[in-house]
Amino acid sequence: MLNRREFLGLVGAVTAAAPAVLRGAQASEWGSPVLDLHFHVRPQPAANITHLDGAGITKANLLARAAASDQVRAVQAAAPDRFTWFCSADPSTPEGIEALTQAVKAGARGFGEMKYHLATDGPEFQRAYALAAELRVPILIHFQEVDHFPNEGTWSTGFAKNFERILKTYPKTTFIGHADAFWANVSADYRNEAAYPSGSIARGGITDKLLGDYPNLYGDVSANSGNNMLSRDPEFTADFVRRHQDKLLFGSDCSCADGRGSGVSQANNPAASRLAGKCVARETLTVLKRSASPEIFRKIAWSNALTLLKI
Ligand SMILES: [Zn+2]
Ligand SMILES: [Zn+2]
Repeated sequence: MLNRREFLGLVGAVTAAAPAVLRGAQASEWGSPVLDLHFHVRPQPAANITHLDGAGITKANLLARAAASDQVRAVQAAAPDRFTWFCSADPSTPEGIEALTQAVKAGARGFGEMKYHLATDGPEFQRAYALAAELRVPILIHFQEVDHFPNEGTWSTGFAKNFERILKTYPKTTFIGHADAFWANVSADYRNEAAYPSGSIARGGITDKLLGDYPNLYGDVSANSGNNMLSRDPEFTADFVRRHQDKLLFGSDCSCADGRGSGVSQANNPAASRLAGKCVARETLTVLKRSASPEIFRKIAWSNALTLLKI
């Protein structure tokens, strides 16, 4: 028989060991470790860890404004080795450029998410592209031309028309594309008519072509935009993930509470109602798993990001 102290000691040991055991089990849920490239930092450190554990995710790359760097450090301290981070700041101001520079010196591994009402080929963004090359970090960009709610405005405008010239002009900058316009333009017939077009994909779209032609462009399949693109046309998706297996990066952009779909998964975005009540991370990992071989799944869910972020 255990006495009371021995019994409590045993309970304590089991409780303390549980999170590690749980993490191991959840990491293997997908058959590969997973890194979520696109995870907006949450104010409470525990809330960040809850989403990772709930969705079976090993590590996440926190996206944070420069002003939130204390939050980033608190999350990293709460779970050593599970979080890297990218910093975003407005490149149209000298303070923004300085904040990006200082963030990289303080450990940020990239710029992002860069989501501003600026033209993709405007002078402000071009300053950020040049700085990313100089500091040798990738830049993650939100491209969107169709409002999610009235008068939202456009973000990194001009992707389809002007971004190829940017890729040519900044060959030493590593770009990571994301969001509506980036993923809708995988289909050649897209003309900004909807945030999330549906139906089969017309081969030869601009994003597909750019991913194939430019070694300095990667794609972040997070959010409803990435999930929608991967879900439209299973035959196309299997071929697409095979052709771009070294260029695609898993990310969630999920804001659900628990990694299982409670709360709101795509905040501020009524157009993404198809993912209501679902965890975007789980939904997108499920599509990827269905569409890719285990080797390719592992690259997209894990190892491509490790290489790119120099982890
Ligand atoms: Zn975004
Ligand atoms: Zn989620």
